[in-house]
Amino acid sequence: MSKETPQQIWENLIAGNRRYAADESNYPNSDIAHRVQLLSGQSPKMVIFGCGDARVPSEFVFDLGLGDAFIVRNAGHVIDATVLASIQFAIDDLGCNLLVVMGHQNCGAVKAALGFLEKDSTIPTGLQRTIVEKVSMAAVAARAEGLERQSDVERRNIEDTVDQFMERIPHLLEKIEDGSLGIAGIYYSLDSGLVDPVILHGVS
Ligand SMILES: [Zn+2]
Repeated sequence: MSKETPQQIWENLIAGNRRYAADESNYPNSDIAHRVQLLSGQSPKMVIFGCGDARVPSEFVFDLGLGDAFIVRNAGHVIDATVLASIQFAIDDLGCNLLVVMGHQNCGAVKAALGFLEKDSTIPTGLQRTIVEKVSMAAVAARAEGLERQSDVERRNIEDTVDQFMERIPHLLEKIEDGSLGIAGIYYSLDSGLVDPVILHGVS
């Protein structure tokens, strides 16, 4: 079986999202036989980095099953050393040919960053400060570009996360140029259940 191209993986992913949004999910690769078949190892086609928000579960949103995607999630999809290591592992060692960064409508991390910047400037306490610090960078950039709405900042945060991956993981650009990797930054709408692209590299 020849390996799927990033474009084919991307188109199948979008088709899965359209099924999910229309309440026509197939729930593929989720039976006992498939589970047992995966005992010997995983070879997912894609890695998805998304917000940890409970309303945005990647496998549901794209109608995926066991072994289909390597998933990394945290609040606001912010990057740190463990995220970079996980994404690099998925691409270099597992052979994932598509990297998806998924942000979403009504993101609490973005709302918290905007609250800090625009309302009371109260510095968040505790560990949540780490998240707000990172998302605030995108919020400041969005504001400098004249983008005011929360949804615009959410999209800017997705773009920033993709940009950071490109800058901080060696060889991503090379892989995109030789056709072995695609990157898709996408925005998930809670109300429609649909995703739409914010920034694409190597897929269209
Ligand atoms: Zn979120």
